[in-house]
Amino acid sequence: LILGCRGTLGGAEYLKYKDPKQPLNARINDLLKRMTLAEKIGQMSQIERENATADVLKTYFIGSVLSGGGSVPAPQASIETWVNMVNGMQKAALSTRLGIPIIYGIDAVHGHSNVYKATVFPHNVGLGATRDPALVKKIGAATALEVRATGIPYVFAPCVAVCRDPRWGRCYESYSEDPKLVKEMTEIIPGLQGDIPANSRKGVPFVAGKRNVAACAKHYVGDGGTYKGINENNTIISQHGLLSIHMPPYYSAVIKGVSTVMVSFSSWNGVKMHANHYLVTDFLKNKLHFRGFVISDWQGIDRITSPPHANYSYSIQAGIHAGIDMVMIPFAYTEFIKDLTYQVQNNVIPMSRINDAVRRILRVKFTVGLFENPYADPSLADQLGKKEHRDLAREAVRKSLVLLKNGKSANDPMLPLPKKAKKILVAGSHADNLGYQCGGWTITWQGLSGNNNTIGTTVLDAVKSTVDPSTEVIFSENPDPEFVKQSMFSYAIVVVGEHPYAETDGDNLNLTIPYPGPSVIQNVCSCIKCVVIIISGRPIVIEPYIGMIDSLVAAWLPGTEGQGVADVLFGDYGFSGKLSRTWFKSVEQLPMNFDDPHYDPLFPYGFGLTTMPSKAN
Ligand code: BGC
Repeated sequence: LILGCRGTLGGAEYLKYKDPKQPLNARINDLLKRMTLAEKIGQMSQIERENATADVLKTYFIGSVLSGGGSVPAPQASIETWVNMVNGMQKAALSTRLGIPIIYGIDAVHGHSNVYKATVFPHNVGLGATRDPALVKKIGAATALEVRATGIPYVFAPCVAVCRDPRWGRCYESYSEDPKLVKEMTEIIPGLQGDIPANSRKGVPFVAGKRNVAACAKHYVGDGGTYKGINENNTIISQHGLLSIHMPPYYSAVIKGVSTVMVSFSSWNGVKMHANHYLVTDFLKNKLHFRGFVISDWQGIDRITSPPHANYSYSIQAGIHAGIDMVMIPFAYTEFIKDLTYQVQNNVIPMSRINDAVRRILRVKFTVGLFENPYADPSLADQLGKKEHRDLAREAVRKSLVLLKNGKSANDPMLPLPKKAKKILVAGSHADNLGYQCGGWTITWQGLSGNNNTIGTTVLDAVKSTVDPSTEVIFSENPDPEFVKQSMFSYAIVVVGEHPYAETDGDNLNLTIPYPGPSVIQNVCSCIKCVVIIISGRPIVIEPYIGMIDSLVAAWLPGTEGQGVADVLFGDYGFSGKLSRTWFKSVEQLPMNFDDPHYDPLFPYGFGLTTMPSKAN
């Protein structure tokens, strides 16, 4: 390389930070020293998609854009729409003085779940039941490809919450109540980001290339331990308890090179996590050596002080001081930028803190390769919802099913079901509803009901395509008991459960099966032999019905590939899933986890009956 006398190469100025041959730190240092305060604070700002006009991106040097809660460019947006949108924003960012690319992030929490036609994998509670970290790693890799197909390089996943109370509306986003299992499931991180090289320095973020995405371990820390499972509430626990129950997944996430960590809305012993300097800076950054960036949650900084005594300036100061590097400020970004600028100019927030934040953000951007490959790779367009990914999701569904009861007595197992029968009944609101199967964070934040919102197979579709062609399949959502008695069905498959929800909307102190689920169980199971399949994000109250049910299967929130349910139900594959959570008898027992001294569950943590497969698993 021969440089001109003023550091130019072929006439254009040589910019060290743009040279991929330079070591990472040299690039970061070079870029950082060229940046103005406005450019630095812009990098720290992440705004909502709908605000990210070219003008805004350029004026404020915005560093990141998000699709929060599944906010999409159009309900059934095509890959082209997504790609054009993200590329358009990228073009604006690259046209700024220093040409720093944006990093676009999305909640791809069970596959690229907000995007029409994407493969939707089981939610984490079901993946926990598979006890198969290698499978979860493959799911991470498939998700990365589908996300990259839409031009997006960053996901707000995995959620590594250790949910200790199923009343929490985010319980299904947690792999387990057992920290050890959640820790094992952080294998999704090398799936999403690629395998970290053996000689990597601890805590340094790693993303292998264009077929991978930056991951985000969330929500740091103790989100799954709040009082009564109330979302965003207070986690009251000793330091020893916090470190031994809620922290373990972060130890391994950091070792596996996770790029980012999202702070939890919740508090620890009354202190908001967004303002916790000890846990964010002293512990995560200094003790665990995490070198990626820490991102706030959605308006998380604003909530440090809440009305009626809200003080936004103080909130910003506390959050940035705690160690938050990128701030998710979906809407009030101008206010944030103005205030933070003022505080830095007046030495309320030291420049060294800003430099640390920007350094971390740039480190991730360089690592992801955004400077070299800022735009969507068109060769990945065929990845979204492709057959191999659907097959993988179907395998995950098979392995996630937990058989809780098989026939009225152990000597007389009911499952697997015979494919050849005269006439069978499929009943229940959840038998033919893809929206219910997928749960929250699917197409929209709160999920959807019905089948027309994406592509997939319902349990009913799957049963129909699995039974012998001579078997008559009758479907009724809520059949009349007289009809059930008179119809001479060989057996019934009843599919009931929860309706989709996300975050606080899912908090539930009763955990009863929603109407008319209980009466469907009663009407059908009191008349004929039945298997009840529960579609839910957590254990729900089943004890009162257990006597009348012949067989019981927990299917969690299986996603788009309902075929996996029929694969196991009819014996092509065996049941192998084990409970990732304690199944309680009544809500009065909650919280109750496997390590509690007074443990009296309906089905214990780790429980799951097996059946013999006719095909290899
Ligand atoms: C959730 C996060 C999510 C973010 C962006 C928040 O409300 O707590 O898990 O990543 O929104 O959608």
